[in-house]
Amino acid sequence: SHEKWEINPSELSFMKELGSGQFGLVRLGKWRALLKVAIKTINEGSMSEEDFIEEAKVMTKMSHPKLVQLYGVCFKERPICIVTEFLENGCLLNYLRQRTATFHKDTLLAMCQDVCEGMEYLESQNFIHRDLAARNCLVSDKHVVKVCDFGMTRYVLDNQYISSTGSKFPVKWSPPEVFHFNKYSNKSDVWSFGVLMWEIFTEGKTPFENKPNPVVVEEITQGQRLYRPHKASLPVYELMYCCWHEKPEGRPLFSELLQDIKRIAEME
Ligand code: ADP
Repeated sequence: SHEKWEINPSELSFMKELGSGQFGLVRLGKWRALLKVAIKTINEGSMSEEDFIEEAKVMTKMSHPKLVQLYGVCFKERPICIVTEFLENGCLLNYLRQRTATFHKDTLLAMCQDVCEGMEYLESQNFIHRDLAARNCLVSDKHVVKVCDFGMTRYVLDNQYISSTGSKFPVKWSPPEVFHFNKYSNKSDVWSFGVLMWEIFTEGKTPFENKPNPVVVEEITQGQRLYRPHKASLPVYELMYCCWHEKPEGRPLFSELLQDIKRIAEME
């Protein structure tokens, strides 16, 4: 039976290539000759497709101005395609790095607020992102930042990505309970959000620079944390720092973080 989250490939037209990711190529396209969309074609063997298609039913129903909207999936033919909202300014990490002029501190905090609003919504839906980082956020034509790829790591078939000792595992964005015990929660997302704030306030530096993952695990376990970026005021640094409490219970909720960000924005 035809369901709302199933997209008919005959209604899609493909335009230029936008980039490539974990699952395959991402292209700009049009849906029903009207709406600009991003179309991700999934390389065979890269995703547990059945599980994703089932979950896509839930994910298409989630909707928030600070989340990249999933419109639907083409799955009657192979390769399957994921159709999402298109964001003109692409990946946040490149956006932070490529700008010739530097960003004002207010703009950087506004980017953090956008992400925090999207994450507060996921938290309210009890939905865990699992891979929050600047590389998984996109920027709109109006320079609004939106959270992308939520929950998608559950469908990755690549041991280098899944295993916490694998080369592609996002150790530098993960709290101790994740890299030690694979224990994901909204509070592990909060830790990642702190690292994402750090990426924003350094305008796209890599956390822990070129340190190998096992060294980062060792340092974090011993209580070391990322330094204060030059553009981060003390209140901003305190906010990212409280996301890195060693215990999940010690970290704030996204709803609390959002209140604090708004308060700092008014003050500064
Ligand atoms: P991955 O599966 O590795 O997360 P991405 O979703 O990051 O792959 O896609 C790879 C690249 O394609 C991104 O870095 C971005 O440049 C581009 N891209 C992906 N989705 C969109 C989108 N919705 N709008 C605009 N560009 C996108």
